[in-house]
Amino acid sequence: MTDSQESDITTQSFLEVIKDLHSQYKSLSEGKVANYIPELAKLNPNLFSICIVTVDGEIYEVGDYQQLFTIQSISKVFVYGQALEDHGKDYVLTRVGVEPTGDAFNAIILDEKSKRPYNPMVNAGAIATTSLIKGNGATEKLNRLLEMYKRYIGRDVFVDISVFTSERSTGHRNRATAHLMLNFGMIDQNIEEALDLYFQQCSVLVTCKDLAVMAATLANKGVNPITKEKAIDSQYIKDILSVMYTCGMYNFAGEWAYKVGIPAKSGVCGGIIAVVPGKMGIGVFSPLLDMRGNSVRGVKVCEELSHRLGLHLFESGKNS
Ligand code: GLU
Repeated sequence: MTDSQESDITTQSFLEVIKDLHSQYKSLSEGKVANYIPELAKLNPNLFSICIVTVDGEIYEVGDYQQLFTIQSISKVFVYGQALEDHGKDYVLTRVGVEPTGDAFNAIILDEKSKRPYNPMVNAGAIATTSLIKGNGATEKLNRLLEMYKRYIGRDVFVDISVFTSERSTGHRNRATAHLMLNFGMIDQNIEEALDLYFQQCSVLVTCKDLAVMAATLANKGVNPITKEKAIDSQYIKDILSVMYTCGMYNFAGEWAYKVGIPAKSGVCGGIIAVVPGKMGIGVFSPLLDMRGNSVRGVKVCEELSHRLGLHLFESGKNS
């Protein structure tokens, strides 16, 4: 068999595999739509899409892949990258650690000794990360983040104002977390500005395909495989993927690393991104969440995809 025949079979089978997984799991109705942000409770629980984008720019998609939803915690990955670009790794490490917590994503805890939030993928660490974004005032900071998203996605993005205001008016837990960090000097005085920016970065509207393109950009050393635009300095990719691998799936991160074995991040809207370095980005969207806040169907799809396509990073032989 020639190389090109081999790659035809592989790429054709991506579509077959995701179509198969979509029909296998579309009737799975376990889990609940997030309702602690009132606006999110309006999400249609039946929505379901899967998308793969390869580093060569090939796109495979199935289900409701054009549906817009808010990116939520998946934003933490990309804003962490922007903070690394803005300040460098050493400084960012003085403000946010890289240790998994084993606690819920919104736990109000800091590292006992350093007073840093544990990692940038939980809310405390993400708010601290957001407070590091450079810019002259709130509008410039938001515009810088919107430009950043544009590089990863390849189109203009918008904040869902209803979700933003819904979260802003009910986000007392995040506000409490920010005050605790202010008390320990981990973020500066301007708490409301940092929180607004954090709520806005979470309220950016994306599709499942957008998620896969963003993940593929990380898989492709920071270059968007469709537009060929550089979204982030490649030197930070390993830092981002490392924290995704160890901390990206809330307090399910260890089991995820064990079973699925690829860097990933989920959000409470039901999105998941997963990155297979040098190969592809995966996006899954289904709003029904398990107890830890991960999409029930999304986790199942990624487990199966990893198994069927041999994606686990430590599965020798299959993924070479
Ligand atoms: N904006 C949400 C919050 O801060 C994001 C949570 C998530 O997706 O995990 O609660």
